[in-house]
Amino acid sequence: MPLDYARRRRNAQSEMERRGIDHLILSPSADLVYLAGYNALNFERPTLLVLPRAGTPFFVVPQLEADKARASSPDLEVRAWSDTDDPWTIVRAGVGAGPRRIAVADVMRASFVLTLQRVLPEASLQPAGALMAHLRRRKEPEEVAALREAARRTDVVFDQLRAEALAGLTEIDVADLIGRHLRAAGLAWKWSYICSVASGEHSASPHHTLSDRVLRPGDAVCVDFGGTYANYPSDLTRTLHIGPPSDEFRRVYDVVRDAQDRAFRAVRAGIAAEEIDRVAREAIASAGYGPFFIHRTGHGLGLEIHEPPYIVGGNGEALSEGMVFSVEPGVYLPGRFGVRIEDTVVVTDRGAERLNGATHELCVAR
Ligand code: ZN
Ligand code: ZN
Ligand code: ZN
Repeated sequence: MPLDYARRRRNAQSEMERRGIDHLILSPSADLVYLAGYNALNFERPTLLVLPRAGTPFFVVPQLEADKARASSPDLEVRAWSDTDDPWTIVRAGVGAGPRRIAVADVMRASFVLTLQRVLPEASLQPAGALMAHLRRRKEPEEVAALREAARRTDVVFDQLRAEALAGLTEIDVADLIGRHLRAAGLAWKWSYICSVASGEHSASPHHTLSDRVLRPGDAVCVDFGGTYANYPSDLTRTLHIGPPSDEFRRVYDVVRDAQDRAFRAVRAGIAAEEIDRVAREAIASAGYGPFFIHRTGHGLGLEIHEPPYIVGGNGEALSEGMVFSVEPGVYLPGRFGVRIEDTVVVTDRGAERLNGATHELCVAR
């Protein structure tokens, strides 16, 4: 079923009504993809969707992109500007002068925001993040289907990876291998996309990315990767071991696996996001590794790989059906090794479903 952008925009308008927002102005971003299906680059030429609380939305786009905008959003009015025009006069004419309350995309360039403020001096600007998060938080069935397919294909890649001979490769080699497998599995992946291969002592750093360190027997190897399917991402972490692991590695691995499982089993509609974090944290703390779990338990996934809801202490927002997020506790022993296990899960009417099915058994690689 095609995504219903017009319905999403109507939902946005009723939410704007509720929040007292007169206009929503989006530059190229996941928010723009969500409300208009238009995936554009955030360049210096303004491309803006202007959505009034009541009335007809319009696109302000550079002439050279007008056809592309019309093709991807045929139901939207396109007001094109040429390189010798001033796009901001189009915006000002469309919004109208006066004390408007305008919400702008969180990722809008600062120079655009400042220009908006200059051309609409009586308007008060605010970030659109909370409004957009509210709209995007609960995924539609089509979105869950895309996220599930992305996750399933990523699981296949992990199975291929754990069968490979990894010793002797660098972290960058392994990332290259993962990237090739992801593309062969029909997912989009590029070097700028998330892919972390943290080997040996590097695995003790949760946001290590890549280096030319050579993997060798005795290493923990934490791989965190994903690609996108129909614009929706996957995000999977598994920690392998090259050659036989030490008793302590096995112990930490079991603690993290148990914490991940307990946290997953706690997921259901109505429970606070921070409660999932608390369950994972308590499992790790009770095994004596509390100080070494140094990040939140998870983040939402949708058109962006990190988006609300955040599964973190202090976030009392209740989970609800259709929310999709990661559950990824970890333990990091500085200078030695780290273990993280990450799955993407969706809140259902019966609890939760893991979108990932890659094994949680400790994988010993060559
Ligand atoms: Zn991260
Ligand atoms: Zn990840
Ligand atoms: Zn993640």
